[in-house]
Amino acid sequence: MTRKPPVRFLFLLFALSAFAPARFDKNGKNAGPTLKVAPEAKPALTAAEQRVWDEAVAYYAANYANKDLLFSSDLSQLKDQLGDFEDCDELSGRKRKFCDAGMPAKLTQVLESVAPVYRAHLWPEHDRANRRWIARVAPLVREQGVGLSERLADIYQTRWPRQKIRVDVTGYANWAGAYTTVDPLRVTISSLDPRNQGAEALEVLFHESSHSIAEPVQAAIIRECRQRDKAIPRDLWHALVFYTTGEVLRPVLSSGATGGDHDGSVPGGGYTPYALREGLYQRGWSDYLKLLQRFWQPYLDGTASFDDAIARMVSSL
Ligand SMILES: [Zn+2]
Repeated sequence: MTRKPPVRFLFLLFALSAFAPARFDKNGKNAGPTLKVAPEAKPALTAAEQRVWDEAVAYYAANYANKDLLFSSDLSQLKDQLGDFEDCDELSGRKRKFCDAGMPAKLTQVLESVAPVYRAHLWPEHDRANRRWIARVAPLVREQGVGLSERLADIYQTRWPRQKIRVDVTGYANWAGAYTTVDPLRVTISSLDPRNQGAEALEVLFHESSHSIAEPVQAAIIRECRQRDKAIPRDLWHALVFYTTGEVLRPVLSSGATGGDHDGSVPGGGYTPYALREGLYQRGWSDYLKLLQRFWQPYLDGTASFDDAIARMVSSL
């Protein structure tokens, strides 16, 4: 008998987080944005399975739902730990010593007991979606990846990390549909999220990975702000990364050379970058978009230097 491949506990954790009720802080206030899962995504379970599933979701809700998957060090540690044990079908080390993940006993027990329910009801669909996502993006990465990554590193005036970047493609990720944690550098992308489909998937992949090379931009913005005695705009670097990835990928994804479908692209075969398509600039970043178009775009076009572009943006804040 062949051994079934292990259910990914990491993906199970994300599924629990997706189905856990909205996040609330100690005062009962909404603790931040949450992922909205369609009601029909809820698995149809037997009574016994439902009990185990509800218990696991309740455990997640009670212990983790008030924390953000990206900003909570607890949750990013847990994510990395579960990622490290991806070849294990247990977390307690009962059957195989090296599968002792050293996690809290209760959490280990909850994840192990709900794993068969996840495996039977959600995993087949998640596994299919994950493979489909990878199969769609892989040819684009093979075709365009080297050129795009060199261009991005040039723009940020740095180099990519030496080691390969680990990307976990999972059914669910965080509320944003994808996120990146550093030390160790790991990207998580939801394969089911409508925002990550089609040719756009390539932009999401490069946006997330660019988190690892955007440090010089953050440093330059901070430096310019200090020199001018200005408050450091918290998200300008992130808006810049969205803008840059979108503009660098636009010609590639507009050319029709991508082979994939073009959901979300504008009529006439153009490509609408993620931040425009998802309305990110309208959510408090509209001034940033103007600055980026005015001062950063010339740098991307080769008519201004990196330092000048950043200095001009900051002085116009
Ligand atoms: Zn980002």
